[in-house]
Amino acid sequence: MTQDQLTPTQADLETLSRQLGRPVRDVVEIGARCVCGNPLVATTAPRLSNGIPFPTTYYLTHPVITAAVSRLEAAGMMTDMSLRLEEDPDLAQRYRDAHEHYLRVRDEIGERTGTGPVPEIAGVSAGGMPTRVKCLHVLVGHSLAAGPGVNPLGDEALAAIEQWWTTDRCYCEGAWDTAAPAPARDLSRHTKTQGLSPEELESKKAARRQASDAATSEGEL
Ligand SMILES: [Zn+2]
Repeated sequence: MTQDQLTPTQADLETLSRQLGRPVRDVVEIGARCVCGNPLVATTAPRLSNGIPFPTTYYLTHPVITAAVSRLEAAGMMTDMSLRLEEDPDLAQRYRDAHEHYLRVRDEIGERTGTGPVPEIAGVSAGGMPTRVKCLHVLVGHSLAAGPGVNPLGDEALAAIEQWWTTDRCYCEGAWDTAAPAPARDLSRHTKTQGLSPEELESKKAARRQASDAATSEGEL
């Protein structure tokens, strides 16, 4: 994509928030777009604005694609792929190449968007790469952003969802609520702890400890 297509507009950010049901943070580029122009993949910088290193660059946001990929996961595709990686040296090599590509592109995104090098996550990609498959959404996000021929297992997963979604058609109609205001708070179905960083979880726990300490000392008075 050209830089113009990569750069998220305010409308893109609102669409992402509607697609996910929560406000998006730290999205620096649109990794892939529908033929109609809507975002399919959000690109996050390798370091968040709060300073935390963030290895997962591409996040699949289009509800039709995320649901289709979840079906593949539920059907056990990740286990099959991980076994094939152990048995097929050629596939394993192409998957390692995809991992290297992911790292290279993430460095470039860090440079383009002003994050700079993030040594904390050097050599760490996402989705189970380079030797396993732990999240198909990550691999499909990578395939959509990179184009065909870069991530062999992301490409396979894309081919496997063609009954629900294909690159050449728009599936946006009715896929999310376009009329309501973009979410300003989290409306997703995530449980309360999902999506929190370790630091946020720790500060929540600390707040609970303080509250219970306060209750205890009050009780003693
Ligand atoms: Zn569309």
